[in-house]
Amino acid sequence: MTITELVKQYTEISDFLNQHWPLKNQQHRTFARTMKIVEELGELSDEILTSMNLQRNSKIAKFTHQNIEDEFADVLGSLVLLGIELDIDVEKVIKRKIEFTKERFEMDQSTN
Ligand SMILES: [Mg+2]
Repeated sequence: MTITELVKQYTEISDFLNQHWPLKNQQHRTFARTMKIVEELGELSDEILTSMNLQRNSKIAKFTHQNIEDEFADVLGSLVLLGIELDIDVEKVIKRKIEFTKERFEMDQSTN
């Protein structure tokens, strides 16, 4: 899946969410999407702590690596939903930041 396809899929999800659970305006949607990222990041953190045996034994007993994968996907998805709400061209800005990071660390640019 490309970033463009990822954004397309989440645009459909965003449209569905906005249709079924409409919020007052764009500012409220941006706030809700931002809080969702925080929620999902907390869930990912919880799973990582569990993977390190730093949670209750009952959680540790139920842990699988898929839990981390699922929460990672939730964080990424919620971030893409915020990007859609903020009208961010996700693919363009990711490319720009990768180039910036490679230049900053003086990495070889020939692999682009
Ligand atoms: Mg989650």
